[in-house]
Amino acid sequence: MTDGIFDPPPPYVPPYYSSAPVEKSFTIPTSPISEDAARQALLEYAKKKHFYSSRPVQEMLLQNFHLFNAFRYCLETFTENRTCKWMAVPYNGEEVDDAGNGPHPNPWDIQKRPPHLFRKSEYHMPLPRTSSVKTCSQCRGRGRNICGSCGGSGWSRCMACGVSPTNLNQTCTACGGMGQVRCCMCSGCGFKRCTTCCGQGRLVTYIQLTIKWENHNFEFLADHQSDFPTKRFKKVTGEILLSDEQRTVSPVTNFPEPSINEASENMISQHRSEFAACRILRQRHTIEWLPLTKVDYTWKGAEYHYYVYGKENRAYVEDYPRKYCAIM
Ligand SMILES: [Zn+2]
Ligand SMILES: [Zn+2]
Ligand SMILES: [Zn+2]
Repeated sequence: MTDGIFDPPPPYVPPYYSSAPVEKSFTIPTSPISEDAARQALLEYAKKKHFYSSRPVQEMLLQNFHLFNAFRYCLETFTENRTCKWMAVPYNGEEVDDAGNGPHPNPWDIQKRPPHLFRKSEYHMPLPRTSSVKTCSQCRGRGRNICGSCGGSGWSRCMACGVSPTNLNQTCTACGGMGQVRCCMCSGCGFKRCTTCCGQGRLVTYIQLTIKWENHNFEFLADHQSDFPTKRFKKVTGEILLSDEQRTVSPVTNFPEPSINEASENMISQHRSEFAACRILRQRHTIEWLPLTKVDYTWKGAEYHYYVYGKENRAYVEDYPRKYCAIM
């Protein structure tokens, strides 16, 4: 609907935020996992696989532990967006909030808090003082329209005999030989209730304000310089080295791994420009240290290795020494 004069909500003008850099000293863990934890991780791995023998875990000789530094940077930007569109609903005689009560407010000035921070949700409401009552243009106020199925006659062709001319010499039981039956779409009255106004003949039109809250996530993993597949970090957690939540966060500048600082600066500025038409309600970012240890071991004189990763101590094994052996 386009009736009525209506300007879309003006773009949101964000207030000025200072961007003081994050001043924090970081302590990076340096001790690898214990031998027991390394053994346990491989044992859990073998248990999960059908037919893998746990004998290599019991008999292996642990050799070297290499600790890698893996860091994950996460930025979340929680935004609010407001849009308006014309709506029309059947009028049931209720009082309407029309322009006679004054000019309508700027959609951005309406106070509405999100039900949850950092979670997607949506809210609809009529913009105050934009309602008005109009005659339904579909039925011109009559509340009913001519039945499209029978064209207003109330009769339609009998399908029982109309489609089977071979039965013409018998009297059709459906129409009694008339060749026509009462229209089943309008019960023979020739009219149907107007679906636009639900038979009321009048509509209330108003501007509907829709508020959308969305969370935008960004994740960056610094190069850990090992052949461990990075995507496996998705399912594990690490140790939180920085956790900061503000109206708008400032980039991290003094983290020992420079690519994390770079990702932080780039993403924060990208989110600010990408969501310029929205209101940024809240931001948070974290830096995690993801434990990653490469364990070298020997079993029956041959050399093997596996990785233990995440706080959950999961094992990643490329080549397990004894597969397909049900007996210990
Ligand atoms: Zn018939
Ligand atoms: Zn009809
Ligand atoms: Zn109507």
